[in-house]
Amino acid sequence: MVIRRMAWGRPGNTGDGLARNADGAAAGLLPEQAAALCQAYESLGLGAFWSCDADGRLTYLSPAARAVLGTDGDPLGRTLLDLFQHEEGTGEGGTNAGGTERSLRFVLARRTRFERLTVRSGDTAQPRWWSLSGEAIHRKGVFAGFHGHCADISDQRRHAEESSHLALHDSLTGLANRRHMNLMLARKIAALAAAKRPCATMLIDLDRFKQVNDTLGHAAGDALLKQVADRLVRLVGDASRVCRLGGDEFQIILPDVEDRGRLGELAEALIEDLSQPYLIEGSRCLIGASIGVAIAPFDGAAADELVRSADLALYAAKGSGRGRFRFFSSDLLKAAEDRKALEEDLHDALAQGQFDLHYQPIVKAQTNQVIGVEALLRWNHPEHGQISPSRFIPIAEECNLIRALGEWVLRTACADAATWGAPLRVAVNVSPVQFADENFPMIVASALAQSGLDPQRLELEITEGVFLEEGGLTDARFKALKGLGVRLALDDFGTGYSSLGYLKSAPFDKIKIDQSFVRGATQPGSRNRAIITAIVALAQALDMETTAEGVESFDQFDLMKALSVGHVQGFIYSHPLANAAFTQALGGGDWIIEPSGPARQRHQRQAMFRRVGVVHEDYYYPVVLRNLSMSGALIEGLLEVPLETPFVLDLGDGQLVVAKVRRSQGHQQGLEFEQELVSDGNGGLCTRYRVSPYQLSAAGLTLGAGPGGPMQINRGPNAKVTMPAFAMATDWNGAGLAWNEAA
Ligand code: C2E
Ligand code: CA
Ligand code: CA
Repeated sequence: MVIRRMAWGRPGNTGDGLARNADGAAAGLLPEQAAALCQAYESLGLGAFWSCDADGRLTYLSPAARAVLGTDGDPLGRTLLDLFQHEEGTGEGGTNAGGTERSLRFVLARRTRFERLTVRSGDTAQPRWWSLSGEAIHRKGVFAGFHGHCADISDQRRHAEESSHLALHDSLTGLANRRHMNLMLARKIAALAAAKRPCATMLIDLDRFKQVNDTLGHAAGDALLKQVADRLVRLVGDASRVCRLGGDEFQIILPDVEDRGRLGELAEALIEDLSQPYLIEGSRCLIGASIGVAIAPFDGAAADELVRSADLALYAAKGSGRGRFRFFSSDLLKAAEDRKALEEDLHDALAQGQFDLHYQPIVKAQTNQVIGVEALLRWNHPEHGQISPSRFIPIAEECNLIRALGEWVLRTACADAATWGAPLRVAVNVSPVQFADENFPMIVASALAQSGLDPQRLELEITEGVFLEEGGLTDARFKALKGLGVRLALDDFGTGYSSLGYLKSAPFDKIKIDQSFVRGATQPGSRNRAIITAIVALAQALDMETTAEGVESFDQFDLMKALSVGHVQGFIYSHPLANAAFTQALGGGDWIIEPSGPARQRHQRQAMFRRVGVVHEDYYYPVVLRNLSMSGALIEGLLEVPLETPFVLDLGDGQLVVAKVRRSQGHQQGLEFEQELVSDGNGGLCTRYRVSPYQLSAAGLTLGAGPGGPMQINRGPNAKVTMPAFAMATDWNGAGLAWNEAA
């Protein structure tokens, strides 16, 4: 081993290394002058000189670098490969392309000049980066090692990394930001499309985040967002798939997933998880989440198109009551337009007297005696007929019409109730927006005074949404209302943000157990039954009443009675009635209703009139879908179809369902599906998988077109022409196949 002290490190020592190699650069300088310059350069800390022998062992290193690299022993005598690791993909000078350590090894083995090779030293926890250049030394034609220059570029490198991280990440949560997500999604979709694989994305929007931010402050809002990010990452299991788009919006990429059953389950799990209470700076807060789901290539082939679809689905999810997920479907485009039109109509509806209140009896389950009613708002739209409050209340809340509307409901209900022949209670729904209005107690007082209704007969139904923040505002509001002598009911209990905690502190007179909860309770294996038992016990202990909502069948009714639920409200007793009909049924006073309804809850079938298609052999037949359940459907339009006939039902948007005819009568066929449908998150049903438009057109099919008769499927020029197997029913019950008729 030859350790040579290089000339430039030792002033006065005129070794031959510099003299020969620096010939060009140092031309005109005396060796001492050159050495002094080198020393000045070294002491300024701008860079370091190094040399090694033919074996790659370090023979010289400028003092500053020697100190930095020498933390675990003097670097002199160690090999370059031992000291430095190659950094992949960081080279500026082409020499860095290729594998990892091999590259430094490679340039050293090549024994020629190399420039600005980026290498790393130290352990991976605290790495330093260096830019390394070297020139081969030959002595008498024999390779004698390298000498060259190196610079510590750790700071620049860290800075560059940080700024590129900043540009692509959200500084609050550390998740990818919108820009990064768009890039990743586009790349992912393109890669998967090449393999004809799907890619799903979910847009997540927090419900009522704004209220937390406004009431608890921005620092609390930030802390909440961080916790949300953590929960999302935990559930998705991969931080790189989760991004924060900004504000309270998040997005998830789910490559290679198209099963809507699976996606629905994930969306539900996410909503449930995000709706669990958060502990922020010592106070508890509750938010919810809504999710829109879209899947490439079905709902959009390009990233921006897919995101637009997911956005529309999210909007629909929020519109249909929050705390829900929704898949994109093409009719959402139309629904968004309809909603806009409804919003416009809603502005004048109150002034034009288009609203009406219906009253649904609330009945003591043990005696069948009507003890009160719930006032339910009805909108009689001049063109569309009656529109459900679940559709227009969220719109009214969003465009600030709910206060005026809610006040009208309150005054009308009080006035109506004051005219009834019996001192029944009247329950009125109060939106959280109304509840938050500081004038609300005054409005209630005024409605009572104007109607002369006994405050004890008025019950305000409040949902858990008002419990967002703990503390002053809600407590004061409750106090003011209780001061008026009215009753308070906790509505929709069991639908998401349920917590028995606030029951103890808020002065409720009643808990209303939500119908979705009641419905679930009769299903085998449901935990709802145990939870209802607990709610009833708690309510009794706290001296509160209980009402079970949406009881339709005797199995539900019997269960509620067995669980000691006090009151029942539902179709088993009565539908909501217009005031005139209600007053008539009530008569002078005691109204006893005998329960009546189906023995048990059936597999819910949704009645409809929707044009769809069925495929049988070579033919595509337009038919009408009359009802749909998870496991089957009733179709109309074909005549004399034998039992067991295999069909493929086309529900539109690439949703094909393999089915068999199980019942057949005249123009109606009952189909049983080979694979069950799944929830679309909005009370509707959809297929797990879809056939992509590419596949359909490749098979010569454009489904969903539905002309007036059987259509032969294009099987190419050489296929033989066959006759359709079934005749179309042209008219029945006067309905006919009027394709223009609204579904
Ligand atoms: P809600 O407060 O849960 O009211 C009960 C809903 O269940 C009513 O729907 C009622 O018609 C329905 N229902 C009652 N029994 C049964 C049953 O046995 N089976 C089934 N399937 N449904 C039953 P509706 O009238 O469509 O109202 C929907 C929601 O709209 C209400 O849910 C309430 O949240 C809201 N809403 C209604 N009127 C008002 C109002 O005046 N103000 C506000 N803010 N919201 C209102
Ligand atoms: Ca209610
Ligand atoms: Ca309810």
